[in-house]
Amino acid sequence: MSPHRPILEALDRVNSRPPGASSPIAVYDLDSTLFCTGPRNLAIARAFAEYRHQLRPFVDQLRPDHMGWNVMADLEALGFADKAILTELRHFWRATFFTDHFVKLDSVYPGAVELVKTVRSTGCLTFYLTGRDDPGMRQGTLEALEAGGFPLPGPDVVLRLKPTWEEEDLAFKTKVFDELQALGEVVLAFENEPANANRFLRAFPSATVVLHATIHAPDPEPLDPGVHQLQALSGPWVLATELS
Ligand SMILES: [Mg+2]
Repeated sequence: MSPHRPILEALDRVNSRPPGASSPIAVYDLDSTLFCTGPRNLAIARAFAEYRHQLRPFVDQLRPDHMGWNVMADLEALGFADKAILTELRHFWRATFFTDHFVKLDSVYPGAVELVKTVRSTGCLTFYLTGRDDPGMRQGTLEALEAGGFPLPGPDVVLRLKPTWEEEDLAFKTKVFDELQALGEVVLAFENEPANANRFLRAFPSATVVLHATIHAPDPEPLDPGVHQLQALSGPWVLATELS
């Protein structure tokens, strides 16, 4: 079966909804789902290497599209073994990764914009639900969405960020589930974290939940067999968008 079929079938169901049915909603995570954080992580490592030149030869070997979930682990895998410097980098990373300046460096996964636009064209509310925090990352996120060509917040597009940096991502997202229930029917949800995708499917069992298989936090819980996996977001919607 084509890996795209569950999404296309969900769109067919949206298109054939009876008049008066509750509003369809498509939910998208941002980091490592629509946006590749590799360039952000690489820029942070490069900026830090300005202060710790021992890192430079290792940072120079990193490639933005082959970064793992943890840039410190990427450098260790290349043979960099100075734990004290890696600890410093970890602090530097925590201070920079969740900021307007660095978030704008992410790249867009191929097919992501076309997917979001095509789903929106069926009448789905576009709901970006992200663990990025509002105080630190709203402006950068808006600029990244615009630069990438994604639909921007408006009457049928919602951007929901965490109210504080400290709040745990999944706890925040599950709190928003009530808001989604009140808004309409979640028909599609896209995530890169297996635990989050599982939680979506349990909360919205009639939805098509898709795991974009990029990177995820260590020690993931097993993926529910009802969650669909996509290795890439490119699909028939890319050609459809070009022709429209
Ligand atoms: Mg994510």
